[in-house]
Amino acid sequence: MHIPMRVLLGEWRPTERLPTGHLPGDGIMPHLKETYYSTRIRPGSLIVFSDRRAWQIIDVSERPDDLWPEHFNNEWDRFTTWWTEQAAAGRDMGAEPTRATWEHRPLVLILRPADQPTAKPRHIAIRASRTFFVLPEHYSLCRLCQEIPPCRHVVNEATIEREMASAERLMAIPAGACLGCTEPITSRMKAVRFPGPNLWRPDLGPDTAVFHARQDCEDSVRSYRQLWEEKGHAELQPELPEEAP
Ligand SMILES: [Zn+2]
Ligand SMILES: [Zn+2]
Repeated sequence: MHIPMRVLLGEWRPTERLPTGHLPGDGIMPHLKETYYSTRIRPGSLIVFSDRRAWQIIDVSERPDDLWPEHFNNEWDRFTTWWTEQAAAGRDMGAEPTRATWEHRPLVLILRPADQPTAKPRHIAIRASRTFFVLPEHYSLCRLCQEIPPCRHVVNEATIEREMASAERLMAIPAGACLGCTEPITSRMKAVRFPGPNLWRPDLGPDTAVFHARQDCEDSVRSYRQLWEEKGHAELQPELPEEAP
């Protein structure tokens, strides 16, 4: 199964193309159109929530003004102070914001696991601007762990495979070539060299970690530098971009 890179890096997204659901209420995406990509959450909607599970919405209600959690009140104060300053500076800020229509106000989501229609509903405080993936009536689940795909196991397996593939690729890089793109570094190319032990290819010996100083190899330089700094090599010898010998 192909797992997109950003999922491997920790940002879960469903395998199936699911529309993004916006909560109901005044001021929340007022011009929302029902499309393949976006929809309005309503009682009965099935959403992905908490550990890649399907939950059924029973209701979404406004949180009474005097029951806002403190950090919402603090944020509201900061927001209105900023808004007033902008308006005073002559910027066109539109209508004055109100607590009842603020898109970041707290709402209460009442929901239960979609496969447990008799379970006691849970009440969850939620920011009005928060979105959820909305599932169709006939959604898919992983047979083994009952999670919405890609499940944790599949993601972990793909992550391990990717790490192994990357280790194999690294081991095939000839000495002196770029540890990022694996291509040779010619004498006319600028390079970034990291002194000290080669953290990705220790077998190549010290002072051999080298990358092209170009945009395509920047991500590799960044991740090498991060490891290099974590290991404390940055303090010992500052790295210098230099011409290849
Ligand atoms: Zn699974
Ligand atoms: Zn390169």
